[in-house]
Amino acid sequence: MECAEFETEHCTKEKVESYEECTAKKDAGKQECSQWADQGYKKCCGWQPCKFFCDAMVWVSKWVCLGYVWVANWVCVGWTWITHKFCVAWETIKWSACWGAKGFLWLLNGAAFVVSMIFWIPGLGPLARWLWHGLLTVFWGFVGLVDMGLCAIGVCPPKKLRLLAIVMVGERGQAVTTPAAVLPEVTNTIDLYRRLADVEVVPLLGGDKWVVESNTPAPGYLLNVDCGGEGLVKDLGLVGPGFDFQASVNGWDGNFRRLIGYGAPVIAFFVRDVEGSSQGCSFGPLVDYVTVESQPSVADSLPHEIGHACNLIDLPGAGSNLMNPQANHRLPNTTLEKGQVLLVRASRHVTYL
Ligand SMILES: [Zn+2]
Repeated sequence: MECAEFETEHCTKEKVESYEECTAKKDAGKQECSQWADQGYKKCCGWQPCKFFCDAMVWVSKWVCLGYVWVANWVCVGWTWITHKFCVAWETIKWSACWGAKGFLWLLNGAAFVVSMIFWIPGLGPLARWLWHGLLTVFWGFVGLVDMGLCAIGVCPPKKLRLLAIVMVGERGQAVTTPAAVLPEVTNTIDLYRRLADVEVVPLLGGDKWVVESNTPAPGYLLNVDCGGEGLVKDLGLVGPGFDFQASVNGWDGNFRRLIGYGAPVIAFFVRDVEGSSQGCSFGPLVDYVTVESQPSVADSLPHEIGHACNLIDLPGAGSNLMNPQANHRLPNTTLEKGQVLLVRASRHVTYL
């Protein structure tokens, strides 16, 4: 969330303009009163006492006219003064509210960071996290049942999925790839999910911060990762807590959502190598992260792995389906079945808010 700068320049500008208008109106008013009086005197009858009374009437009316101009001017000046005060007060309220909300969110994410530390204790921590994430998936899936039903009959308003891609950096400072190389994969993912499931992929960190280089160096076991059973076992060891820590410090804004599950971001780690023939890995809804291989080049498995994170399973041999591990995952060929769309949209990662 970006707060606009504290800006009262437009208030001052409006005030100056408004004061100028008041003065111009006052001058014009005074002139009108005098002209009108001059004409009045000329039109007066020439004989006494008619002339005396007529002149007196014109004189009194002229001063009433001038009095009106003065009052109108003071109302104009007073109105300008008070609206300027309101303008400055409104800007102050807007600015403080934005920073207040920002501070509050920061505190929420900080509190979630501290609570999530339980999940970093190797062994029990990741196991507790699997259970917690499993429960959250079921709970939010249940909450989304009505929405699922509506989409099944064709009413599928766009939902959001928050994404952060993190390029891993090794302990000697060497990044496994560049954000520039990752960006086309992100773009492909955005297109696919919009077209296939009415899901708008948005950057967790806002603006155009889709891809960041990890700001803390990662040990070797986070650069070359395992998948399948061996990967799951390692996730319980140091790997799960390692990725969780990386997700927490690089994707700070997502900490609270990751803890409560609703609209939890998917964190995609671009690693050096995923063991075996697969080019990416995901442990489904059990974790918030997926891994994608980026050497020698970035694979096109990001949307496929996100599919796993969003409740989908592999469909080997299913032609151009997104969940066929052998297919290429690019538009215009890639497809999703209606049931798969419903499952993706029921994921705790895919929400309206
Ligand atoms: Zn797969």
